[in-house]
Amino acid sequence: MGDIQLAPTNTWQETLTQLIESCCAELESNYFRVLRDTLFSRRTTLRPNMLRSIASNEVDALNKYFCEPNFSAVAHGSQLFQAGLSEQAALRLGHITRQFLLDHLEQGQVAPALAAIDAYQEAVIQGYIQSQEKKILKEQELIRSALQTAVSRYMVEIKEIEAMAQKATEANEFKTRFIARMGHELRTPLGAMMGLAEMLQEGIYGPLTPEQKDMTQRIVNKAVVLKNIFAELLDQSQIESGQLRLIEEEFPPQALVEVVYSNYLPLALQKGLAMRIKINANLPSSVIGDKVRIEQIVTNLVVNAIKYTESGSIVVRVYKANATHWSVEVKDTGIGIAKEHLGTIFEPFRQTDETAHRKHGGVGLGLAIVQQLVTAMKGTVEVKSKLGQGSVFTVNLPIQPMQE
Ligand code: ADP
Repeated sequence: MGDIQLAPTNTWQETLTQLIESCCAELESNYFRVLRDTLFSRRTTLRPNMLRSIASNEVDALNKYFCEPNFSAVAHGSQLFQAGLSEQAALRLGHITRQFLLDHLEQGQVAPALAAIDAYQEAVIQGYIQSQEKKILKEQELIRSALQTAVSRYMVEIKEIEAMAQKATEANEFKTRFIARMGHELRTPLGAMMGLAEMLQEGIYGPLTPEQKDMTQRIVNKAVVLKNIFAELLDQSQIESGQLRLIEEEFPPQALVEVVYSNYLPLALQKGLAMRIKINANLPSSVIGDKVRIEQIVTNLVVNAIKYTESGSIVVRVYKANATHWSVEVKDTGIGIAKEHLGTIFEPFRQTDETAHRKHGGVGLGLAIVQQLVTAMKGTVEVKSKLGQGSVFTVNLPIQPMQE
């Protein structure tokens, strides 16, 4: 609040009235500023009913403080601002102090009234600060105990989750070991069965009738399907258990794709499908990677294309995609894949349609293995497909091993 000089004349009341009138604006704005600076930084708000009660109680409180020096303005301030303070409330306090001053002007008690307003303002602010501090401490205490409760609850939950994760890891490890052991146990007799059937086919145990030949061929065919399923299961369990080791060797990508093409051309022709291979002129003559696994990737895509195409054609295109990658694209005119399945077909054991699979066979591991191998090689695999129109699978692989 600014200094006010009192005029020592007998018209002092007049002079003071003018002086106070002119100072009132300053008083209000000072009060407002001090309160705002001190209090509003705490971002408080005042409810309308609290505002009304401040307005009605304030003059009484100020009078009381003026008449009874023992009256605790700090406590009053604390109570007054417990619910917070708005800018309107501060403005209101400015008006009230002004009225108080004018009232005491008439009674000739200007100096003590000014002193009282000053002290009162200070006390109210202190009271407010104290009440806020108490409130903050209380809130801190509440937050601390809530945090403590939450932390101890989370500790229990984390322990439970850790135990569950441990069980899941053990179960997964058991599954991987089980598949590996069973795969081995089943593949050995299966290999023997295939060998025996082939010996029968070759006529080692005497000539076969056409029906017997047909039967032994069917045995061999089914055994090959089983062998492939076991191989996929073993691959998947090996990849899952982190035992997959990729080797790096230099090879011509064109020759690799041509081998897959010639291996599966008879199967496509048998189904009445056309199959073409397109080698782009920009294809590098050699690349570095795991040749066997890359052949497996291309094979899986070509086998799927034949499996899921009833009529039309399959085109395998090989090209250099950019400075660092080469690509194999397998395009078919088959049954296609619905949009909602495009996101899941690369997950292990995922198949889009139960009935279609009973017809086509397979356990839903081919694409999962493709994706896991491609990812391990730091490549990518993409699919574009339209239901009923066909699909395009594109694998992008590094021309040379990528730097870490
Ligand atoms: P599956 O052993 O069932 O063939 P894959 O992992 O190879 O397993 O494929 C997963 C699923 O993706 C298949 O069951 C099939 O629904 C779909 N799919 C894969 N390739 C094609 C394709 N070329 N055309 C249509 N659907 C396909």
